[in-house]
Amino acid sequence: MAERVRIILKSGKDQAVKRFHPWIFSGAIKKIYGTAAEGDIVDVFDNKNTFLARGHYQPGSIAVRILSFEDTETGIDFFRERIRKAIDYRKSTVLKNINETNVFRLVHAEGDNLPGLVVDYYNGVVVMQMHSVGMYRLREKFAEILKELLGEKVSAVYDKSGETIPHMSGIVAENGFLYGSSGRVQVSENGFRFIVDIESGQKTGFFIDQRENRKMLAEYSEGRTVLNMFSYTGGFSVYAMKNARLVCSVDSSASAGDLADENIRLNFGDDGRHESVKADAFAFLADIGNKYDLIILDPPAFAKHNNVLANALQGYKRINRRAIEQIRPGGIIFTFSCSQVVSRENFRKSVFAAAANTGRKIRILHQPGQPADHPVNIYHPESEYLKGLVLYVE
Ligand code: SAH
Repeated sequence: MAERVRIILKSGKDQAVKRFHPWIFSGAIKKIYGTAAEGDIVDVFDNKNTFLARGHYQPGSIAVRILSFEDTETGIDFFRERIRKAIDYRKSTVLKNINETNVFRLVHAEGDNLPGLVVDYYNGVVVMQMHSVGMYRLREKFAEILKELLGEKVSAVYDKSGETIPHMSGIVAENGFLYGSSGRVQVSENGFRFIVDIESGQKTGFFIDQRENRKMLAEYSEGRTVLNMFSYTGGFSVYAMKNARLVCSVDSSASAGDLADENIRLNFGDDGRHESVKADAFAFLADIGNKYDLIILDPPAFAKHNNVLANALQGYKRINRRAIEQIRPGGIIFTFSCSQVVSRENFRKSVFAAAANTGRKIRILHQPGQPADHPVNIYHPESEYLKGLVLYVE
């Protein structure tokens, strides 16, 4: 076997690794001994040749995704153990309530010390998304491990890395089943039913991370006229329908709207209180009048990279301002950002600026985030990507 490639960091550029941050940026690298191919396991040393970490190499801004800060072997047993740990701690959270909620995240990348690997569970159908070539190479093994650890709880394993493997890699990742097969899946979340289209849906098929926030929304929607902006497959709308007066779901994607309608029917039959509108959110929000007293704003990540951060913050400010301006007195706004590069503080500042523009009196009722199956690695603040505010507008 070839010698493992050694990466030496520039002096002073080892601070983040010493504080267990799991990424090595290319700018921190002084020298690479050997030829690292993407996906290879490499060792990282400080300027004085002290071992710091071992991880997957990937050409690009994040050059190494760290697997271990110890000099341990990173064979398949290593990964089995990490996946077992990810499942283990979920036994006291999501796995405990599997009869009521059978859709959750099993592995949350850095949050579960497995950078580059995301695994979601949809009522027996497991969907994996690999974000690095190192993890992608192991996909067949991961499918085996998940079958071994979850037993009969798994009926199929689908690899959906087609859009998540870095563009620069020569690899053309094809989506497909590694085990079993499945069409659309019906899942239960807090007792509500949803159809999930894992193959053509966004991300792995469903926005699992909003589960607890949807539950909170159900509490607030009683008797209200609800506007669900960026509604996708109607997650928030279904919960609101429990007791709202009217619910309007708005999304720019027609297929998302169709699935939202289907999900409403699945739970409430033909119910005239709901309508789906295919529209651009910015245009729609320009003039909603004073029809609504509960508005949900859950846009896609406006900023995927730091260099567009300022534009993203403007985007949040614009849509929040529109909602705050027009919501009925006594109205409630659930507003979110899922951009990894937007910090909670920056998001709050954008909403604050939007509020100040309108001059309305506003209280923050809650500051929700992501659920326990999307854990935040304390050494990796970037894993806290979902930030929300629940506002009361007087
Ligand atoms: N709230 C949803 C997830 C929202 S994902 C849930 O709980 O499941 C973001 C959605 O915004 C996507 O469905 C996407 O189609 C939609 N979208 C993106 N840009 C939009 C725009 N300019 N106007 C309206 N919808 C948009």
